[in-house]
This record gives sequence, structure tokens and C-alpha cells, in this order.
Amino acid sequence: MVNLNLPLKSIPRITPKYVRVLEKLGVFTMKDFLFYFPFRYDDFSQIVSISEDYLNQVITVEGKIIKTKLNRIFRRKMSIVEIIIETENNIPLKAVWFNQPFILETLKEGVEVRLSGKLILDGKKFSMNSPAWEKSSRDMTNTGRLIPVYPQTSGITSKWIRWQMKMLLEPLGHPMSKWTSDVLIDILPAEIRKKYNLYDIYTTLSQIHFPDSKEKLIRAQKRMAFQEMFLVQLKTIQIKKEFAEKNSTGIKFDEKLIQNFVSHLPFKLTNAQRKASFEILKDLEKPRPMNRLLNGDVGSGKTIVSAISVLQTISAGYQTAIMAPTEVLARQHFESFCEIFKDYGINIALLTNSYRKINNFQFSIFNFQSIFNEKILKNKKNGREYLLKNIANAKINLVIGTHALIQKDVRFGNLALVIIDEQHRFGVTQRATLQQNIPRESASSPRESAQRVPHLLTMTATPIPRTLAIAFFGSLDLSILDEMPKNRKPIITKIITPSERNKIYEFIKSEIKKKRQIFVILPLIEESLSESMVDVKAVKAEHERLSREIFPEFKLGLLHGKLKAKEKETVMKDFSDKKIDILVSTSVVEVGIDIPNATVMLIENSERFGLTQLHQFRGRVGRGTEQSYCFLFTAENSVPTSVPTLVPTRLKILEKTNDGFEISEADLKLRGPGQFFGTLQSGLPDIAMEHLSNVKLIKFARAEAQEILKLDPKLKGHPLLADALKKFSEKIHLE
Ligand code: ADP
Ligand code: MG
Repeated sequence: MVNLNLPLKSIPRITPKYVRVLEKLGVFTMKDFLFYFPFRYDDFSQIVSISEDYLNQVITVEGKIIKTKLNRIFRRKMSIVEIIIETENNIPLKAVWFNQPFILETLKEGVEVRLSGKLILDGKKFSMNSPAWEKSSRDMTNTGRLIPVYPQTSGITSKWIRWQMKMLLEPLGHPMSKWTSDVLIDILPAEIRKKYNLYDIYTTLSQIHFPDSKEKLIRAQKRMAFQEMFLVQLKTIQIKKEFAEKNSTGIKFDEKLIQNFVSHLPFKLTNAQRKASFEILKDLEKPRPMNRLLNGDVGSGKTIVSAISVLQTISAGYQTAIMAPTEVLARQHFESFCEIFKDYGINIALLTNSYRKINNFQFSIFNFQSIFNEKILKNKKNGREYLLKNIANAKINLVIGTHALIQKDVRFGNLALVIIDEQHRFGVTQRATLQQNIPRESASSPRESAQRVPHLLTMTATPIPRTLAIAFFGSLDLSILDEMPKNRKPIITKIITPSERNKIYEFIKSEIKKKRQIFVILPLIEESLSESMVDVKAVKAEHERLSREIFPEFKLGLLHGKLKAKEKETVMKDFSDKKIDILVSTSVVEVGIDIPNATVMLIENSERFGLTQLHQFRGRVGRGTEQSYCFLFTAENSVPTSVPTLVPTRLKILEKTNDGFEISEADLKLRGPGQFFGTLQSGLPDIAMEHLSNVKLIKFARAEAQEILKLDPKLKGHPLLADALKKFSEKIHLE
């Protein structure tokens, strides 16, 4: 009896060397291995008799080997294997492989083989270069069908994985197998599978690894997507429910106060801002915690909307905390809120943790009643303690900071509202974790307020298409700022061909002479989540080139992901203080950073970015009163890259519109949600992501999740699901 939860180590045919590689890929058990999915398929399913009709097509042919040859070219340390097979219609076919002499150990004269590859002509003879091959007597595993191609790391090939997968899958499907019922358990209830005509788990896995046809493959992928989405929905509904059962402080809407505040703003609120503010204020009135997402493009004015809720909360006598993903952003919020509330006598503190090693908190306090004074704080040896004491006794009304805010020793006196800015930077699915970590009130009367949790407002500047919003933020209520302040000058966006490069450089010089500042952004060269040394080299080289050859008279700064946090901070600060004219950077530029004086955003190889990301970069300029520009450079002969590129014509959408929601919808259609959410680290497998544009699937998954939880909120009657959900939550919490 084999247990699929046993570690790979226990399978003798998988040697320790392979176990190590697989473990690096996160594959520890046989079950993990079964769920290690291909990322694409080679279509070798066209099995034909050879003829000219198939030239330059990928086909599969069978035949007997009539000749083999091994050429060694010692000078170049190279070997070439050449075989000739005779196919059923007596036409010879040559096949050639480089540096794989071991092939001849299997492919000997007289052996019947099956070859899959592109049919070409070598002189007048039919030929294939490096075709996939296997003996005809074997099951079609590497040829003659849709062939799975797995994400590879060194030390492991798709061919090897296919082989192992086959050995693992076959006995599971055997009718006599006890394993199927005992171990490969289907977590999707049979009724649901039946209702939506979904494959059972065994068929799903076999068709994903060895699809009999494209149709069956898609059906299997849909079933996986449904399952993942179903779990996501169960989780979000549960979170929403748990949240709704908690108590919170009802904060009465003081219309006069808010009207007065709004009327003294230097601008008129947009209708979208009004509506969102009202939705939030209404939520705050309830004795149940608000859980709302404020989604609005860069520059749509989220800060002031959040400020309205802050003012209402503080005026009612409670504290508010604002958490930002980076130091720079936290500091910028601190400055903004000090300015916004300068006439209100509100005490505001900044709390960040920039030097984690020595655990030295940075902080400052702002207020106009001079209860606290920054100088005094700085002189105090244990200023941090002093600060924490005044957060705990609620003398500080508003605390702004980074993750430092959710550290254990930070206790609030009467915290009633938490605002999280640029929440996607914390990871989409990490949200749940953040909610659980929200600092609780340090209860004055423990019994009464022990259960009370603060209201929660999260904000994101990535315009999220509706479908995705439902899928990922099902546990949240949504407020959308889909309208830009009127005074905004739309950023002029232009796609620049290589021949126009110098013209743009001249234009940039004239802008700098007007004391404006410039961003230059370079894409990542390799496809990876973080920057590699190659990227750093490229950005350094460009910085060097621009400094020496193009802009020798100006000051250039350099920013990339390999810099230490402190170094990054210094560069950003210098740019912000106008000590730098041009900032050359990889795509690490902080979301939300405000440099009103920057008027030009120049993006190299812009075809390598997604539209949404380009739009985000563009949002770094156009924050002041001057006309701003975004130049999208495209390369005609760009360096080969593994990153899928956007055809420059697609970039035209950016020239046409500044509307982030329109752009993100277009991006979703063009590249699918996987790419779209790539930067947001959804934590979902690609397979689920691919089918996310399928609105129906999400709706059905949600409906079924609701149905199940209605009858069985704690999933007591569905232990399999409960267990899968627990594992699933752990997985998505980890990122
Ligand atoms: P974001 O949504 O990116 O956080 P901000 O809140 O930082 O945007 O707002 C960007 C700028 O627009 C700020 O300088 C803010 O004062 C200004 N602003 C906000 N609302 C309006 C409005 N209704 N009219 C004019 N300017 C506004
Ligand atoms: Mg903002």
C-alpha cells in the first residue's frame, strides 16, 4: 500500500540527487509531485506518413532505424548523432542530435522509433533536428501526443518528470487500485462536480499531465481553476463573516464638522471622492467593523478621502493608524497629514523601523499645541518609550508608519480606525494576515472592549478590473474613485521610435533647464520576480552612458533593487530635494512617491512592461501644476528576452487614454490575469489565474461556496474541504 503523503525520499527510483532538486521546487511528497503542473505543452499529436505536405510542420512519424552514425569533432568538443529511419511508406528520414552521444545506446539499428519534431529538408532529404524520440514499443510519453513541458531547474528535465509522473499516475488509475479511493481524495464534493460537469481528481490529474486532446486538457484545467477559486471564495466568505460578527466602535457622522473641513480645502471634491467619503462615514457609524477597499488610480485623491475618515474618528475621541508599505511613503503621508490637519490641533506621530538590526525606531511627532516637541524627543534617550507611552494613553491621535506599527509592543489607547495604503504591496492575499495583526485596543475595561476591532480601510492605486475585484476582494466592500480631479492636465504620452531618441534627449535638457526633474526607467532583462545582477549591470551601464555622453552637465542618480534600504532612501531623498536632475532606475520606483517637480517619465523597452505597470510609472509624473510627459521608448532590435513583449501598437492605448480602469481592463484582455496580477503576488497557481477572465467560473465558485457555508459555516460536515482550506490558507499566508 502506497501512501501519497509519503516523502519522495521513500521512492527508491527517485535518487537523493533528484529529491534535493525537487525539494527546492517545493515538491516534498508524491502528492506534491502529482500537483507539479506543466507550464506548457508541445503539440506532437499529428501522427502522419511523411510527405512534402508536412514540410515545416511539427509532426510525429514512426519507422525502423536503418543506419546510425556518431561524428565527433574533437577540436570543438562536439559530437553529432545521426540516424536514418525508414518510415512505413519507405521514405527515409534523417534525424540529428548534438552532444547527446548516449542516444545511440538506445537507438540502434533495427529498432523501431517514434520521432516528433519539425520536418525540414536537408538538401533533398527529409530531416529533423533534435526531435523528441522514444521506442515505438513504449507508451506515447514523449512523442505522438500533447507533451507536457514542466518548469525546469538545472538537474532535472521534463523527460525525466514525464517518466516519473507516468509511473505514479498509472497505478492510481488502475481499477484494482486501493490508492485511488484511499489516498487521492477529491476535495470537490461530488454534487458540485456533477452540477458543473467537472472531472474527478484522477481524470483531472491524468489529463493535465498527459492530455488526450486539447479539449480534455482545457476541461481538466477548468476543473483545477474551479477548485482553486472555490477555496478562495470559501476563505473570503469566511473572513467576511468572521469580521461581520465582531464588534467595533460606532462613530457618529458629524455633518457640520465634515462640511466645514471640506469647504476649507483648496479644491472642490470630485463626485467620486464625495461618494466614497460618504460610504466610509456610513460604515464607521456601524458597531460592526468596516472592511472596505478604496480603489482609485494614482492621483485620484485617495489621501483626502481617507483624511475625512481620520478627522471624523479623531473628533469622536478615538485614535487612527495609517500603515504604508515603505518608509518613504510613510514619511510622505506624515507630511501630508500634518499639513491637512494643521488647524485642528491633532497630534500626529511617525513610527518606522528603518534600522531593523539595531532596532532603532525613527519617529517624529507633529502638533500645534506643543505638548510634544520633536527636539525634546530627540534628546530623550528612550524617546521610543516616550512615544509608545503616549500612543498607549491616546494622547497621540494619529500614528503613521510602516510594519513597525504592528509590532507587539505598540499598544493603542483607543484605536478605532486602521488605514492601509497601497495594500497590494503587502501582497494581495496577505490582507487576511494583516487584519489579524491589527493592533487591538489596550482595553480600559477589558470585558467590554476585548472583542472590539478597529474599522479597516485599505487603499490601492492599481485600478482593479471588476472580475478580479470580485475574485480577490470578495471579503471587502468596494469604493471606487473613477474620476480624476478636474484641474489635472492629462499627461502627454508618446511612443518614441529609435530614430527620435535624440530629439527627446534635447527636449529633456530644455525641461531640466526649467528646473524640472526626469525619471528614466529600465525593464528587467530576465523574467524573474526580483532583479538579477544582469539588470543591475544594465541600469548601471545606462546611468554611465547618460551621465557621460548625453547629459554631462546634469546630475544623475541611480536606483536599483540591489541597493540597501538606506541607500535607496538617500537617493530618493536627494531626488525629492532636487539634488538630482535625472533618476535612472529599474522598475523599483516606489509606488505612490510624490515628486511634484518631475515632469518627464522616460521608459526604455516599454514593450516589455504590461500596460498597467506602464500606467503606474506614468503616474509618477503629472503631480504638479506643470505639463508632464511620458515617453515610451521601444527597441527595434531589442535584446532577446524571455519576457513576453507587447506589440508596440498595443502601447497606443496609453497614448489614447489616461484612464487607469480602461487600461487595466485592456491589460486583462491582452495578457490575462496571470500577467496582470503577476506584480501583485496573488499566490494562486497559474492555472487558476489563466481562467480568471472567465467570469462565470468565478460566479459559480462563489455561489457554491456561499451555499455550502450557509448550511455548514464551520465546514464540520466537510472535513476534506476544511482540511484543504486550512492548507490552502497556510500556503497563501506564507508569501
Ligand atoms: P492618490 O490617490 O494617488 O493617493 P493623492 O491623494 O495623493 O492621490 O492626491 C494627489 C493630489 O491631488 C494631491 O496633491 C491632492 O491634494 C490633490 N487633490 C486631491 N483631490 C483633489 C480635487 N478634488 N481637486 C484637485 N486636487 C485634488
Ligand atoms: Mg496615495
